[in-house]
Amino acid sequence: MTALQVVRTVEGLREALAPARRDGRVVGLVPTMGFLHAGHLSLIEAARERSDVVVMSLFVNPTQFGEGEDLDSYPRDEDRDVTLAAEAGADIVFAPSAEEVYPAGFSTHVEVEGLTDVLCGDPSRRGASHFRGVTTVVAKLLNMADPDLVFFGQKDAQQAIVIRRMARDLDFRAEVVVMPTVRERDGLALSSRNAYLDASERERATAISRALETARSSTASGVDGALDAARAILADAGIEPEYLEARYADDLASARSFNGRPVLVAVAARVGRARLIDNVVINPEQDTTDTRLFRDKVAHRTPADN
Ligand code: AMP
Repeated sequence: MTALQVVRTVEGLREALAPARRDGRVVGLVPTMGFLHAGHLSLIEAARERSDVVVMSLFVNPTQFGEGEDLDSYPRDEDRDVTLAAEAGADIVFAPSAEEVYPAGFSTHVEVEGLTDVLCGDPSRRGASHFRGVTTVVAKLLNMADPDLVFFGQKDAQQAIVIRRMARDLDFRAEVVVMPTVRERDGLALSSRNAYLDASERERATAISRALETARSSTASGVDGALDAARAILADAGIEPEYLEARYADDLASARSFNGRPVLVAVAARVGRARLIDNVVINPEQDTTDTRLFRDKVAHRTPADN
């Protein structure tokens, strides 16, 4: 493919992909809500490496936002996103309208049970309906683009786990690839919502990744000890987390020790008006399991104005 194409309809997307499909080329899909940063770009670059045709979807999905969340104020800049996506190696940006994705009378949803009512899905937090919105739109995107590969970030660990389960349970043929979290040099995980932080909030927000690293280095104190040590770092920065929990990375059951299966230590916290999430996976068998999922990396490229 040559110049990047922006398409806005499912029909247009299928037409654009038809030649690749006919020739049996590998299609990679990177779903995003836009306002791209180096985390998104790392997914596009990974897709570029492994696919012949790279599609990035750009859709701020209304059904995954709850009442009172930031749907209306969510940062958007399509022109900039298209430029950055092209530079990172995307061939097609699929940027549908809400009406294209959810036509009048839309009434079908995809729900993954069990994994979606803890952490962010806890009824007192975003609730399972958040993940219902995510899985429904991702299922639709997989049907629209029918990719061979679909790329997600470890930054949204629960989302990646839920989507892996959905893809397996519903026999989607796409391979779900999860890429490491991209961080600023001071540890802050890149997020479109970091745009909400002023300078002092941005500084305080670094406590989130420091807390997670503290948990990682405190495993000798057991789960409760490690979480207490992490909580102390957050408290020092005046951050009261919405949650800070240790759960087994495969089924999200509450973790009782670090001695067995890989443990996801996940945090959500409000800093100013930004609700930020981050996580680390503590893997007792680092050498023998798939560490691709679990290794974070520092941004090698951050768009200047992000
Ligand atoms: P979003 O636009 O926030 O829906 O994110 C789109 C994709 O980018 C999701 O798969 C996210 O997990 C991934 N992503 C977001 N932030 C990062 C990050 N800092 N590092 C790696 N992937 C990320």
